[in-house]
Amino acid sequence: MSNAPQNEDDVRRIVRDKGIEFLFAQFVDMHGKPSAKLVPAHHLDDLLSDGAGFAGFAAGDIGQGPDDPDMIAMPDPTSLTILPWQPNVARFACNVTVEGEEWPFCPRTILRRALARAAEQGYELKIGAELEYFLLRRAADGSLELADPLDTLDQPCYDMRALTRNLDFVAEVSKAVTGLGWDNYATDHEDANGQFEQNFQFADALTTCDRAIFFRYMVETLAQQRGLIATFMPKPFADKTGNGCHFHISLWKDGVNVFDRDPADDPRGLGLSDLGYSFVGGLKAHAKAYIAVSAPTVNSYKRLVVGAPTSGATWAPAYISYGYNNRTQMLRIPGPGRIEDRTVDGSCNPYLAATAMLCAGLDGVARGLDAGEPNSSNLYTLDVSDREAQGIETLPANLLDATRELEADDVMREAFGKAGGVDYVDYFIKVKRREWQAAHEQITQWELDRYLQLY
Ligand SMILES: [Mg+2]
Repeated sequence: MSNAPQNEDDVRRIVRDKGIEFLFAQFVDMHGKPSAKLVPAHHLDDLLSDGAGFAGFAAGDIGQGPDDPDMIAMPDPTSLTILPWQPNVARFACNVTVEGEEWPFCPRTILRRALARAAEQGYELKIGAELEYFLLRRAADGSLELADPLDTLDQPCYDMRALTRNLDFVAEVSKAVTGLGWDNYATDHEDANGQFEQNFQFADALTTCDRAIFFRYMVETLAQQRGLIATFMPKPFADKTGNGCHFHISLWKDGVNVFDRDPADDPRGLGLSDLGYSFVGGLKAHAKAYIAVSAPTVNSYKRLVVGAPTSGATWAPAYISYGYNNRTQMLRIPGPGRIEDRTVDGSCNPYLAATAMLCAGLDGVARGLDAGEPNSSNLYTLDVSDREAQGIETLPANLLDATRELEADDVMREAFGKAGGVDYVDYFIKVKRREWQAAHEQITQWELDRYLQLY
């Protein structure tokens, strides 16, 4: 079953036929946080023609001060999504406008513009997103604990018993995803205790980003209904694997995947076209900069390390590399015609991450960059001298370093466009440096333990 309307008339028919009583007009800020107004269905026509108004400054980092005129969230009719657990309510993913003009700080608008530029060259970006999450609860003393107290194996990944104990929750999510027409094709217990992943089919980039926002909102809501907390935070526990949101990317032209090639015709055997390798070259060339967007929080960089959690591996990248079906690489080629970017984590704004990757990859295509030879090493154990001999560079170690790289990357500047007379990346960097500074001002228990009486 698909709920996807093509136009406003489809929306009116669906709202009437399905008995939808309320509509969320939803947009996101820089951090991907969904904000919305709830509009009764008898005002649907007003919503479609005039949108819903917001004091943008109150909603988060979306380029507004308290003195600015209303932000208007204009529904995209094709994004109508009926809440699976409350089918009399649906949401629209909206594009933000101010005084009738597209708002250049709106992340969905930034992606749409990047997609439109790619479309001028005939290209369409498709993405599949793998959103990992933890299922937790707040203990009586206020601390966080796993929702499932029996989930204690050192290597819990794929544990059938843990998946069975949580069947009630993951089955509800699975049925919801499939009911939305997205097709859940697998659910697994992930590498950390209390961690799950539930996959849905890839789609065009804008659709997948709209779905990623809704998926996080849905999983968190369904968990809250059970008194639980679902979190997509990149690294909630120092000793456990973090939450990735790997993007599987392909580029299409006239309905054909232009990354695809028969592996037998590919000297490297991966099944990527020359254009696909150039796209990989572009991703590698800009990874140090775009990781500020694909892994955009202070916490993100605690996931992007080699050091082993209790399960044995972080499964996250630390180096700029690509390779075969090898999960120690930043870019994995899991099969012909597809690139998996493993930098992306659960805290990303998917619209901004997709924009960064599209523009980085297309820069590689425009410049005819080559990807170099694929790496087949276990990068978690390769020693420094071997790594250096192979010319493999390291990703930024923290958010501050990542913003410095982003600041210096002109392709990324152009990718996100101008907003309020400056480059959007400068606004992004300003907000992220404030976040970095606030974290840096904390005095942690580790510092007290280490330094209090060292001298
Ligand atoms: Mg996974």
